[in-house]
Parts: sequence; C-alpha cells; structure tokens
Amino acid sequence: MTSKGILGVVSGFSGAGKGTLMKGLLSKYPQYALSISATTRKPRINAATGESEKDGEDYFFISKEEFEHMIDQDELIEYACYQGNYYGTPRRYVEDMLAEGRDVILEIEVQGASKVKAKRPDTVLVFVTPPSAGELKVRLNKRGTETPEQIKGRLRRATEEAEYMQAYDYVLVNDDLEESIANLHAIFRSEHSRTMRSEKRIANITAELKEMMKGE
Ligand code: 5GP
Repeated sequence: MTSKGILGVVSGFSGAGKGTLMKGLLSKYPQYALSISATTRKPRINAATGESEKDGEDYFFISKEEFEHMIDQDELIEYACYQGNYYGTPRRYVEDMLAEGRDVILEIEVQGASKVKAKRPDTVLVFVTPPSAGELKVRLNKRGTETPEQIKGRLRRATEEAEYMQAYDYVLVNDDLEESIANLHAIFRSEHSRTMRSEKRIANITAELKEMMKGE
C-alpha cells in the first residue's frame, strides 16, 4: 500500500462508453473514488428508459451564476466550456480523497485533462476510445439521447479531441466491457509501482539494509 492516492483522468469521445466503464470499475473495485463534476447543462433523459440523470449522482446541476461563483471562490480544480456549457471539478472532494489514500478518477474532457496534467504532472491520463470511428457513430445513434444534429456536433468534436490523444499516458480501446474494466484497474495498479511513487520505500529499504550490514 502507498500512503497517497493517485489522481487519474479518464477522457474519451462522447459515446466511447466511458460512463459504463466507470460504473463497472467502481462496482467491481469500490476503492476508487469518482469525482462528481458541476455543470450548467440540463439533466439528460434517456430516450430508451425514460430515466433522467440525477443531481449529486451524475453531476451537480447548477446555474451559470452558481458556476461562476465557484470559479471566483477557486473551488474548482479545473473547468472547461463544452458544447456551450460549463463543466468543472470541485476541488474539496478530490483533495480529501487523495489525502485518504484513495485513487481518484476525474471523467473530464481533453482541455480539462491538460489543465490538470499541467498543474499536477503525476496525474495519470487515460483516453478511452471505441475500436473505430464507425463504431463510435453506431454507439451514439444507439444511445438515443441526442438529436441527429447533436450527434453530428459530437462527432465533429471527436475529430478535434483526437488531436489530444497523443498527450495521454494510456489509450484504452473499449471493445469488451469486462476486459476494459480489468485493463483500467491494471493501469492504476501498475502506476502504484512506479519508481517515482516508491521513493519512501526505496529510502527505507536502503537504510534498513545499511543498518543490517553494519558490523558484518
Ligand atoms: P456530457 O454532457 O456528455 O455528460 O459530458 C460532456 C463532456 O464533458 C465529456 O467529455 C465529459 O467527460 C466532460 N466533463 C464532465 N465533467 C467535466 C469536468 O468537471 N471538467 C471538464 N473539463 N470536463 C468534464
């Protein structure tokens, strides 16, 4: 066990299956903490099930004024404007969870991700993509939550986001859900073993060995 949690960012094209992947990861491995973002967009209603997104669960749905107040009070780690709405990561929860040693995951878009990485270079960036652009279009159509015009907007946005993929530490192809959950978990497990996160352990073992060999 390391004493401090890892901050991870999961981004990906809209329709890449990030939401399902995150839900799957959390239900299988409850040690992760998923940050809940604030947004000025309205809750979405799933056309297939008729269910609406929930405040405090999917997002904190707030007004533009409330969002701008959070910016002024420096209550957000990062924020970005996406398709005409604000999205941002509330600072408090993330810092509390990291201090407790939990691995915290932010599910945010590419501009927010690069802001977090610039502030905290040890952040692990994972980009989730479907196997192909064709598959992305199929998934967006199947979701049934957006109009054809909105789908076109999301695909246009995906073309821009693809430019950012190179800056990520990992690219995760989300084809089989169970396999993707296992791969994402493996990424975080491996990150815990990085030399840069093991400095205390290295110092302790070195000191212990030296102590042990004294007088030998
Ligand atoms: P959606 O409207 O589909 O829920 O989200 C649109 C995009 O905003 C997604 O790429 C999602 O990852 C991103 N997003 C959600 N929360 C945040 C946030 O707190 N900050 C940033 N920068 N992006 C976010």
